[in-house]
Amino acid sequence: MHETTSEHKHVEVRFDYYRKQGGNVSKIAYLTIDDGPTENTKGYVDYLNNRSIPAIMFFLGSNIDRYRNVAIYAVQHGMIIGNHSYSHPQFSKLTLDEAVKEIRRQEALINLIYAAARHARKYKLFRFPYGDKGGANKGKLQEYLKSEGFMKIDPTGITHPSYYEYELDRDWDVFWTFDFGEYAIRDGAGGSNQSILSHTNVMNLWAGGSPADRFSAEIILIHDHAATEIRFPGYFSELLDHTMAMGVEFTMPRFVQGDMRT
Ligand SMILES: [Zn+2]
Repeated sequence: MHETTSEHKHVEVRFDYYRKQGGNVSKIAYLTIDDGPTENTKGYVDYLNNRSIPAIMFFLGSNIDRYRNVAIYAVQHGMIIGNHSYSHPQFSKLTLDEAVKEIRRQEALINLIYAAARHARKYKLFRFPYGDKGGANKGKLQEYLKSEGFMKIDPTGITHPSYYEYELDRDWDVFWTFDFGEYAIRDGAGGSNQSILSHTNVMNLWAGGSPADRFSAEIILIHDHAATEIRFPGYFSELLDHTMAMGVEFTMPRFVQGDMRT
């Protein structure tokens, strides 16, 4: 199933993923935000709406339990909520049964949040914590996601060779092509690294080897971590503002769906 959205009126689906405007080149990116909700999420939602940035927020169930009203606020203000499991385990350390339970438990919570927000849930998306696709259970988990009607981001426009080498285009979870890596600050990299993060990491977006790679559409990953906000206040808007200033344009992806069960 291909579906475009009418929720974000500023969004148009484009098939040229980069373009030249005067002397400037822009490229397309899809924004994904992991590990919320937190006490900061509401502010991020407001920022995203002010900038007309569509986003997928991959929430944790354990955080929805703590910040239920924030989760409802995000839905009511146009965010797409994705499933990032209930408790953020490493899926390769779980049995298949435990893994499915992690996904199911969070699905139920997300459905409750949409119901409380009185919004229909149009997109069913899942991202593995740490990008750990489940090790020995990978194939079975992919089958599970597909059979449950989970969706993936349409990979058209993504030209990074590694995305296809690792068959990320074929899987039914949502991976990424670019990670800000800003969580390194949380782990003690320190405030002096702020300028490095806000410059070099974002510069890498444009540093692909071939022109096709360089102009690839991107699935960008940033995290909603309260600990990072303490070490680097305003990191979220600073990194995203800088990314856009470099000519990256955030739009809604198209989605492809697995099997639909009634
Ligand atoms: Zn995560």
